[in-house]
Amino acid sequence: MKNNIQEVKMHQPQLVRFFNKVSAEQKINHSYIFEGLDRDDVYAFSLWIAQLVLCREKQADGSACGVCSVCRRVATLDYPDLLTIEPDGQSLKVEQIQNAKQIMMKSALEGQAKILIIRDSEKMTPSSGNRLLKFIEEPEGETYIFFLTSQAGQLLTTIKSRCQQFTFMPISKKVITADLVAKQVPQSKAEIIAEVSNSLSEAVELIADEWFNDAKSNVEKWYSYLSKRDPLAFVYVQQYLVKLAKEREQQWLIFDLLIAFIKSSAQRAEVVATEIDLVLAARQKLKSNVSFQNVCEQLVWRLMNKA
Ligand SMILES: [Zn+2]
Repeated sequence: MKNNIQEVKMHQPQLVRFFNKVSAEQKINHSYIFEGLDRDDVYAFSLWIAQLVLCREKQADGSACGVCSVCRRVATLDYPDLLTIEPDGQSLKVEQIQNAKQIMMKSALEGQAKILIIRDSEKMTPSSGNRLLKFIEEPEGETYIFFLTSQAGQLLTTIKSRCQQFTFMPISKKVITADLVAKQVPQSKAEIIAEVSNSLSEAVELIADEWFNDAKSNVEKWYSYLSKRDPLAFVYVQQYLVKLAKEREQQWLIFDLLIAFIKSSAQRAEVVATEIDLVLAARQKLKSNVSFQNVCEQLVWRLMNKA
């Protein structure tokens, strides 16, 4: 797992305060929905909640000690009464849920609580989900279920209506930039990566992504022609960008990168705003299936002829 518990806690201070309090009052619910764009972050956070439930050396403020044998084994996924399941292919299948349920119904090997964590839980089919309802409503003994998702909107309503839901705050660009710089990424590159990613793990993946690095230097070059109103900016579209970005998602990212370079340029705020508007309008056109090359060439014309 890429993100450790300490790092995630730092990024979600409000949730940490809230759950420490709940833990101090011994009011941790038996089921929760945790929603966040970064699935590894959400998973690390749910492991921290598992520590809150299981820690044998809890602090006065309710927090888990993080260092006792239980806390350590939870963090390294080496605790026998903690079970994680995730989709096998496109969905969470009935058999997976059935197996998990059977394990959960046995008594805890360590004599404490048993915890089930379901990742990507929006991929539960209705028949899988319905098998868990009784578990949520009448938890037998000390059993806990945490549903993790990046799209709570797609979770089964039967589950949603029975669990308290918490959504992670998106991590600010500043935090992502600082984190990348701490990982030895140069400041200017860190700012561009932070600008185009929604989460820390996405940002970390981009650092070494060959296609991304190639795209980044190409867009930088393209933008340097654009800002000099050099007609080479037209040629550049056909010669490089079209070949580079064949997939729709890559084409989106080209525009995101362009916006990142515009934001980092030393122009007046109004100019930056106008340019970003033009790129956003172009990005919108891609949605209506206009060809990438046409959209880019129109954009070049507009950027170079703007008032
Ligand atoms: Zn502990």
